[in-house]
Amino acid sequence: MNVPSHIPKKQDAIHIPSLLEDEKMLLEYERVFQSLADSCPQLMWMAKADGWIYWYNRHWYRFTGSQEPDMHGWGWQSLHHPDMLPKVLTRWRSSLDTQEPFEMTFPLRGADGEYRSFLTRVIPVKDAQGQILRWFGTNTDVTEQIEAEKALRRSEKQLNDFFDTATLGLHWVGADGTILRANQAELDLLGYTAEEYIGRPIAEFHVDAPIIEDILSRLCNNEKLINYQARLRCKDGSIKTVLINSSVYWEDGQFIHTRCFTRDITERRLAEDALKKSLQREQLIRRVVELANQGLELEKILHVLAQEIGDFFQADRAFIIHLEQSARKFHLGAYAQYCRSNKIRPYDPTGMSPRLQELYQRNQSLESMMIVARVSSPEEYYHYCRDYLKERDVSESEQDIYCREMVSLNFEREGMRALLRLPVSYRGIPYGNIVLHQCQGNRVWSDEEVTTLQEIAIQVGIVFYQTQIAQAEKQAKAELQKSYEREHLIRKIVEVIGQSFEIDSILWTIADELGKNVGADRCHVSRFYFEDDKLIFCASGQYCALGIRAVEQGDIELITKALQHLTPKDVRTDQEQVANISDPEAYIAFLRQQMAPYHLPGLSTDQLIEMVRKYEAKSTLRVLIRYRNIPYGSITLTQVSHNREWLPEEIELVKIIAEHAGSAIYQAGLYREAQETALKEQSARQELERYAKRLEASNNELEQFATIASHDLSEPLRKIQMFADVLKSKVQEDGKDYLDRMSSAACRMQVLMDDLLTLSRINRKGQPFKPVDLNEIVKTVLEDLQMMLQESRATVSLENLGTVQGDETQMRQLFQNLIGNAVKYSRVETSPVVKIYGRPKGDHYETVIQDNGIGIKQEHTTRIFEPFQRLHGTEKYPGTGMGLAIVKKIVERHHGILTVESEFGSGSKFSVTLPMK
Ligand code: ADP
Repeated sequence: MNVPSHIPKKQDAIHIPSLLEDEKMLLEYERVFQSLADSCPQLMWMAKADGWIYWYNRHWYRFTGSQEPDMHGWGWQSLHHPDMLPKVLTRWRSSLDTQEPFEMTFPLRGADGEYRSFLTRVIPVKDAQGQILRWFGTNTDVTEQIEAEKALRRSEKQLNDFFDTATLGLHWVGADGTILRANQAELDLLGYTAEEYIGRPIAEFHVDAPIIEDILSRLCNNEKLINYQARLRCKDGSIKTVLINSSVYWEDGQFIHTRCFTRDITERRLAEDALKKSLQREQLIRRVVELANQGLELEKILHVLAQEIGDFFQADRAFIIHLEQSARKFHLGAYAQYCRSNKIRPYDPTGMSPRLQELYQRNQSLESMMIVARVSSPEEYYHYCRDYLKERDVSESEQDIYCREMVSLNFEREGMRALLRLPVSYRGIPYGNIVLHQCQGNRVWSDEEVTTLQEIAIQVGIVFYQTQIAQAEKQAKAELQKSYEREHLIRKIVEVIGQSFEIDSILWTIADELGKNVGADRCHVSRFYFEDDKLIFCASGQYCALGIRAVEQGDIELITKALQHLTPKDVRTDQEQVANISDPEAYIAFLRQQMAPYHLPGLSTDQLIEMVRKYEAKSTLRVLIRYRNIPYGSITLTQVSHNREWLPEEIELVKIIAEHAGSAIYQAGLYREAQETALKEQSARQELERYAKRLEASNNELEQFATIASHDLSEPLRKIQMFADVLKSKVQEDGKDYLDRMSSAACRMQVLMDDLLTLSRINRKGQPFKPVDLNEIVKTVLEDLQMMLQESRATVSLENLGTVQGDETQMRQLFQNLIGNAVKYSRVETSPVVKIYGRPKGDHYETVIQDNGIGIKQEHTTRIFEPFQRLHGTEKYPGTGMGLAIVKKIVERHHGILTVESEFGSGSKFSVTLPMK
C-alpha cells in the first residue's frame, strides 16, 4: 500500500528540545505549533501518558462537530463505530501498556453523521530519560484512498476473472515479442500448456512470418488492429485461422505490452471457403445453363465451358468432348480444349499410333464411355486403361501393349500427371466426356472435386441434349421450310397453269422451278402428242444448273425425228409412272428395256445410250406426265455431279407436279378444241350474217320489184283487162273465149302481184303491236268471206277466242288466208265444215282453224308454206301459192308458231300460237 506523502512517516518518538525552558520560546513554539496544527488537513490530538486526551486541533472539532469538553479524556469513543470501538480500545490500551506507537485505520463519525475512514497514528513523546510525556496522534482521512483501493482490487479481480474465464483467446505480448500472458481459451485454442506458450516469442506461432511483422509494425505505430486475419500453428500441427483484435498498452510513451484477442474463425473460414467454392460452382453451373440457352453453336459453348471448368478446377488442361453416336459406335463431334497457361502444351489427340487409334475406335462403346478415370499416377492410369479394355475384343497381351503405350503417350509425351475424366450423359444417354489434366506438380483429386465435376457433367449433358434437340428442331424447320417451298412451287406452277394455256410456257416454268427446288443438275420436261397418227415429241422445258451441259438442240431433234415413227398403239400406257434410277448403268439398262419393243429409224439404242453418257447423268428420276391414264410426256431430273438417292418426298413432289402438268396439258388441249369450235362458230356466224345481208338485199329487191309490179305492172294489166272487155263485144264467139282467158290471166297476175306486195310489206310496212281481240278479227273476216261461204255452203263454228298482241291488219290477213283455204280446199261431195277455236298456252294463245277438206299429204306439209308453192292447178283450186307464205311471215313477225296437222282426204288443222303480251 502506498502511503500518501502528507502523512508523517512512522517514527519511534518525538524529542522536545531543551530550549523549552526558555518560556518565551516556548510560547512562540506553542503559537507556531497551534497555527500549524490548525492549518493541517489532518485531525490531530495529544494525550497524556495514560491516554487521557487533552488537546485536539481545530480540524477535529470541525470534522466531528463535537465540543471540546465532550472530547477531553476518553470522550472520543462516542465518535467511533460501535462495531469497531472494542478493537480500537483493545489496541489503544495495548499501546499504552507497551508504550509502542499505535497505528490503525478505523471509521469516525463526522458532523454530518457519516462515517469516514481514518488512518490513525499515535506516537509517544518521551523525555530525555525515555519517559513518556505525552502521546501525539494524527487521524488522516483515507476514505477515498480505501475506496480507490477497493475499486482497484475489484477491477483487478474482474480483469483476472475476465482474463481467465473469457471464451475468447487472449494474450499479452511484451515489447520484445514474447508472450507475457495468455488465457485458458487461447491455450485451448492452440492446444499448448501455459508453460509451452507463455514466455515464447509470438512469431513462433504464426504461420505467415510477414503477417506477424506487419502486426507488430502496425501496433508500434499505435494502430489498433481490428479483425486482423492471421493463421496460427497449433500444437498438433494443424493451422487455425484467427481474427486478431489488438492494441498496445503504453505507459509514459513506453510500449509496455500488446493485448491481443484471438478469435478462431477456422470453421467460419472453411465454411466461407466452401461457400465461396459452392457459389463459384453454382455460378459455373449457371453459366453452363446460360450458355446452353443462348443458342450458340455447340463448339462455341464447349470452348467457353472448357475454359471455365479448367479455371474452376485450376486444372492445367480441360477438355469437353462431344461424341456422336450412330449404330452404337461413337465418333468425335464437337471438341474443346483449354490450357491454363502457355507453359502448358496443348494435348495432341493425333499423337496415337494408327494401331492404337484403330484399337481405340474399335472399342469405343457405351460402357467404355461411362468409365470414370480418377488417376494421379502412371500406375493408376495403366489400371484405368486396363479397365477400359476389360471384356473387349482385345487379347490380354494386346491390352498390356495398348495400356503401356497409353501411359507413355500421356505421361511422357503429353506431360500429364493426373487425370480426372467423367462421362457426360443425360437421361442415361452418353454424350461425351469432361477431362481434366494436371501437368505441373502432383495432384490428387478430392471427392469433393469429383462430385462437383459430376454436377457440372450433368449440366453439360443437358447442354448436349438441348443442342441435339435444337439441331433436330433446326432440321425440322428446314424440312418445314423445304415443304413450304415445295408447296409454293406447286402453287406457282398451278398458278401459271391457271393463267396460261400455253403448254410450252407451262412446261418451261415446271422445268425451271422444279429443277431449282430439288437442286437437280438438270430438269427436262418433254411431251408428245399425236397428229395424224404420228407421234410428235417435243422437249418443252429444260433447266440446267450452273456449269451443267444443256442437252443440245441437235440431239433433241434426233430423238424427235426418231420417235415420229411411233403410233398411238406404240405408246405404252402401262409404264410405271416413276423410274427412280440412282446410277448411270441402271439408267442405261432402263432405256434398253424401254426401247426394246420399238424400231426407231435413225436412232439405235446404242446411240441413245451414247447420248446419255455424253450428258453424264449419274442419277435419274423420270416421272411420266399422265392424265386419266393417258401419257402426255415426262419430267426427268438428272444429277450429274454425284450419285443421288432421290428422297421419297422429292419423288412425291415430282409426281404431284407431273399430275398438274398432265391436267394442264389436257386442259390446254380442251382449250384448243374449244378455240377451234369457237372459230368455226364464228365463221358460221359470219356466213349467216352475210346470208342475212344477202337476204335483206333480196327482200329489198323483192319489195322494189313488188312495188314496181304493183304500180308499174298494174296499169298495163288493167289496160289488158279493159281492152279485153272492149274487144269482147267486137270479136266472134271463139275469140271471146281467148279474151276471157286473157282477162282472167291478167286478173290472176294482178292478184299474184298484190299477194307479192303484201308478202314483201309484212316486215317493213307492219303496224305496231297492240292487243287484238281475235273474236273481232275472225268475225270481220267471216263477214268479208260471207259470199264465198254461202256459195260453198260452208258451216263455220266459232268458239270464243282470246286476245293477242299483234298487228290488227296482219291478223285479219292471217285469218282470212287460213279460213279462206279451209273453205276453198273442200271435198267435192262434202260441204265445208270449218271449226275455229282456241286456248291459252302459257303466255301465248293458240288458235286452231280446222276443216273437213281434202287434207294435205304428209310430205307436203312443209312445202306449202313456201311462196308460189301450190299442190293443185288453178283450174281445180284457184290461187297464187302465196297465202300460206304470207301467213308464215306474219306469224314469224309476231314471234309465234305456225303448225299444220292433216290427214289426206279428210281434213286439215292449222294452228297459230301468238304471244298474248
Ligand atoms: P293457194 O291457196 O293460193 O294455192 P296457199 O299458199 O294458200 O296458196 O296454199 C298453198 C297450197 O296448200 C295450196 O295450193 C293447197 O294445195 C294447199 N292448201 C292450203 N290450204 C289447204 C287446206 N285447208 N286444205 C288442203 N290443202 C290446202
